[in-house]
Amino acid sequence: MKDLRERLQAKGVHTLLAQFTDIHGVAKGKLVPLAHLDDLLTDGAGFSGPSIAGTGLPRTGPRAEYWARGYASTAVAMPWMPGHARIVCDGWVDGEAFDACPRQVLKRATERLDERGWHLRTGIEPEFFLLKHEGERWLPADDGDRLDKPSYDLKALPRQRDFLQALHQSLAGCRLDMLQIDHEDAHGQYELNFGFDEALTSADNLMLFKIAAQALAEERGMVFSMMPKPFANQPGSGMHFHVSLWKGQGVDGSNLFMPHTPDGAANPSAGLSPLGRQFVAGVLAHAPGLSALAAPTVNSYKRLVVGECLSGTSWAPAYIAHGANNRTALVRTLPGRFEWRLPDASANPYLASAGLIAAGLDGIERKLELPPAQDDDLFELSAAELRVRAIPVLPQSLDAALDALQADEVLTAALGATLTAQFVKLKRQESLAYQRHVSDWELQRYAAAF
Ligand code: GLU
Ligand code: MG
Ligand code: MG
Repeated sequence: MKDLRERLQAKGVHTLLAQFTDIHGVAKGKLVPLAHLDDLLTDGAGFSGPSIAGTGLPRTGPRAEYWARGYASTAVAMPWMPGHARIVCDGWVDGEAFDACPRQVLKRATERLDERGWHLRTGIEPEFFLLKHEGERWLPADDGDRLDKPSYDLKALPRQRDFLQALHQSLAGCRLDMLQIDHEDAHGQYELNFGFDEALTSADNLMLFKIAAQALAEERGMVFSMMPKPFANQPGSGMHFHVSLWKGQGVDGSNLFMPHTPDGAANPSAGLSPLGRQFVAGVLAHAPGLSALAAPTVNSYKRLVVGECLSGTSWAPAYIAHGANNRTALVRTLPGRFEWRLPDASANPYLASAGLIAAGLDGIERKLELPPAQDDDLFELSAAELRVRAIPVLPQSLDAALDALQADEVLTAALGATLTAQFVKLKRQESLAYQRHVSDWELQRYAAAF
């Protein structure tokens, strides 16, 4: 600890950001002077437990206190907040790991893999908007030339180079290996990719990305938005996961999803190994319940709606299917890995990853068979053809996804009773608030219609 304190001090750090993540995937925390590093790494920083969304903790007694305990290996100076270093924390209550802390949920899931000598690696691909708020209206921050299809647009991209460069450099300064940035399919929408890592580290990295992007956008008078579908007539923001399962570390590590020829050579052209196929079969079998974790807002279902992909404006999945390099399917299989296209930008990365692991392990434990691969453009298939091929549709509302989650014993066991109850309670409230809302669309359509 003394070493770490001296190392941080040498970098000009005087304050720690003790950061944890709440049930909604929102970063929370406190500032702690560097002199109190030892306390943060042992007992943790104390918070009022019931004030944190989704804890369900009481207002009094020893369980009223939520301790965010930090991990030395995660300490990193934040270039956009000079003098400050972020330390990733998770929740402890009354001396024990708090079962309903999302990061603890993911740690429990990865422990199940550890028992088999396995570890999951994820590469998370956040898409996001840069917005401005004018009066009551939310608009893309860049209202430049408004091409029909701004994917990879090189006129729009440089307009945000100041923000994008600052983000890139800030994250690189935090040892995050950035791979690519592009302008996406919607006006004011971007995607940033960083290298894959252990599932827990990737989720920690995603939170760091959100913290940096929020701060850097705000400094420039913009709002960084991970809302899944801000504009009805524009594609939404996904947060795809590239997934592989490994045995062993470093150069001795082997990718268990990589198929092999009978004589033992890696055979990428064969797609996924038998174990990988079982894992994906589990992910597809649990897709309805996973939707509640991966697409957790009422707005999420405007991204996943069937008609949306038929309109050809979106690459978000609507059908529970897989196919080799098929971006119209929920799972796009690639040599030795797969892309899980269900999650959107509002997903809590810890809960989505934990659900993914539980679903994949269930596929392996039950040796589930993959349904036939779909090579066609699923957005072009008629409803009749989808029925013939027995391709199910994803839940089309948050309530339907919550019903599926509550009925899914594998996922609820992975989340634990407290977190499941809290998640369902908060999300049902959100859904009810939405149902009670009367939108402009309804007034336009019905006010004078009858
Ligand atoms: N924006 C799409 C989604 O919501 C994904 C586009 C892409 O494939 O990058 O999933
Ligand atoms: Mg994209
Ligand atoms: Mg992708």
